Amino acid sequence: MGKIRVLSDNLANQIAAGEVVERPASVAKELLENSLDAGATRILIEIEAGGRRLLKISDDGEGMTRDDAVLAFERHATSKLKTFEDLSALETLGFRGEALASIASVARVELTTKTASEPAATRVVIEGGRLLDVKDAAHPPGTTLIVRDLFFNTPARRKFLRSEATENFHLINLVTHYALAHPDKAFTLNNNGREAMRVTPARTLRERAFQIFGRDFIDNLLAVGGGREFIAKVSGFVSAPRERRTTRDAQYFFINGRFVRDKILGRALTEGYRSVLPHGVYPVALLFVEIPLEEVDVNVHPAKTEVRFRRPEAVRESITEAVRAALASAGVIPDVKTADTADEESLTALESEFSDAENESANFAAPVSQPGRLPKTAQEMFNALSINPPDIAQSQKALDESDFPRQSEAEFTVPVVDENAPSFESMATDSNADAKSKILESNAKKQIDFEEPSIGELLNNLNSELLTPNSIVPPLDSAARLPKIIGVENLPSSGIRPVGQLHQSYIIATDTEGLLLVDQHVAHERILFDKFRRGLSERKVESQNLLLPETLDLSPAQAAAFDLVQNELEECGFGLMRLSGRTVAIKAVPADLPAGEARNLLREILETIDREKRGAARDTLRDSIAASLACKAAVKVNMLLTLEKMQWLCDKLLTTSSPTTCPHGRPVILRLTMRDIERGFHRT
Ligand code: ADP
Ligand code: MG
Repeated sequence: MGKIRVLSDNLANQIAAGEVVERPASVAKELLENSLDAGATRILIEIEAGGRRLLKISDDGEGMTRDDAVLAFERHATSKLKTFEDLSALETLGFRGEALASIASVARVELTTKTASEPAATRVVIEGGRLLDVKDAAHPPGTTLIVRDLFFNTPARRKFLRSEATENFHLINLVTHYALAHPDKAFTLNNNGREAMRVTPARTLRERAFQIFGRDFIDNLLAVGGGREFIAKVSGFVSAPRERRTTRDAQYFFINGRFVRDKILGRALTEGYRSVLPHGVYPVALLFVEIPLEEVDVNVHPAKTEVRFRRPEAVRESITEAVRAALASAGVIPDVKTADTADEESLTALESEFSDAENESANFAAPVSQPGRLPKTAQEMFNALSINPPDIAQSQKALDESDFPRQSEAEFTVPVVDENAPSFESMATDSNADAKSKILESNAKKQIDFEEPSIGELLNNLNSELLTPNSIVPPLDSAARLPKIIGVENLPSSGIRPVGQLHQSYIIATDTEGLLLVDQHVAHERILFDKFRRGLSERKVESQNLLLPETLDLSPAQAAAFDLVQNELEECGFGLMRLSGRTVAIKAVPADLPAGEARNLLREILETIDREKRGAARDTLRDSIAASLACKAAVKVNMLLTLEKMQWLCDKLLTTSSPTTCPHGRPVILRLTMRDIERGFHRT
């Protein structure tokens, strides 16, 4: 007898399930898509224990006859596709006929369904792929699918499930996606019996975004409408640059109404925000991309979350253009794109794609240069770069109200800062020398009366360093690699003596060993971090009541995170109250935190508490909250300090648990030793 056997249907389904059913959210995705394909207008989702114990979806769609209800669980059973040709003109979300068969092979499933015309509903019970029961039941027209004990018969897969909080995050995120893609439908999501989201039919995407994310969020949205005919039409919203996120969690992309994970879309968006947002800061996006069906292949992966474009580069450019246009019409960036360059670019993109289909990633690595898009005037450049300039007034307050020695106003003047001036962060992201020289030009023109060295002058210095390395001053790298990051073992033993400030950002100091540079922001961050952590463990963090409580609207995912960390936040000095729905009132904030930062900080904590960490130990959670808090409350760069305050910072730093690294692991002090100095001057 030969050794080859044909796999049993059930085994084949379980293997297929490995691709379709990765986690509870992927089950929910298939079921939601089925409901939408069935023309449902109201969809109710219930989850328990992160969707492992129970996932239940009810819809008011067209339902199934008894025959179809049984057939639906057969592999490759679908009502949506008859011929191969249909595949390229598909209007439904599903088509492979694999989902129900796969899910039923790895869970206990109960399907109850009724069409409008049949007199009774049918209930089908299947466990681990075995059909157990088919009988009449009571159910209004529509379908309810219950999935219990996911992976009960495949322990190896069960082990790969993450914490309940993580699986919930994915589920909530998924439902949010579909609710955004279908504003005209009603969605309700209940998590462990508690309502996590309920949206009634809305007329517009904007209204739906308001229902889900609240007022703050939509106030910061810019409408996007554009793209290219026959390639990619783009609509939806992106955020104004003042809305800043530290993760991509608030980016929702859809291709032809389908929720997809695709790097091209994310990159196109990032490219659109080039020079508007610094590295590591992400915009919010709700982007709907319509691509002609023959231009996109959705049958790349069984879960259908991946797609393949026939002309990826043209798609990416269309999206970037649409995003840039939205930013331009909001006045965030100048609108300098001329018709000529647009045509040239699209031509290059098309040519390279048709000639070299294999080379998609190479196209990415070398983006088409776009000289025509550089801002024309210095003012435009400033506008383009204007992301929240460092909020000196607030950090000032943090300094004054922290343990800093009190000083009279006269001694401590706040430098005037041009609202439009680029921050160092944004400068750092733009290494384009041309752009910098434009800022240089503008400095000459700008008539601002600075008492202190202005940001403009600082930029001047920066630029002359960058642009004229061969002038009279010694080459910049004359001391290359000489300054050393200070480790704990060679901490200054007899104290640090500050002598001044470099670029209003670094404290220049000396100790017996030589010259020191202390990063003022991270030094203060370390001091505050230790203070918050100590306060937390001794349970006495000071808090200040706000005159007027502030409210904050949370997204469903943020609300879920909030429930997990509310206690920790209160231990940190926040006074918080969950109001109706997903609104939170902030009544008090930690004593060191500038009140204006409260909302930002809270939002940031809810987002950055890394998804995987949501189930993490309390200590880790506290540490990451303390770190965010310290970062927000610490003195910023570009801020003038008196010698006395510098001394306070240095002294205090030395008493912290780890004076040489900030809570995020960056170095705090650099040292140029006497030996290196002497060697540099050829004295040894
Ligand atoms: P596909 O969606 O790829 O066709 P599925 O395995 O997801 O395959 O579903 C199989 C079939 O069951 C669908 O083609 C559809 O006819 C039917 N079906 C599944 N869910 C529903 C539902 N909620 N309402 C009506 N019919 C459904
Ligand atoms: Mg389906």
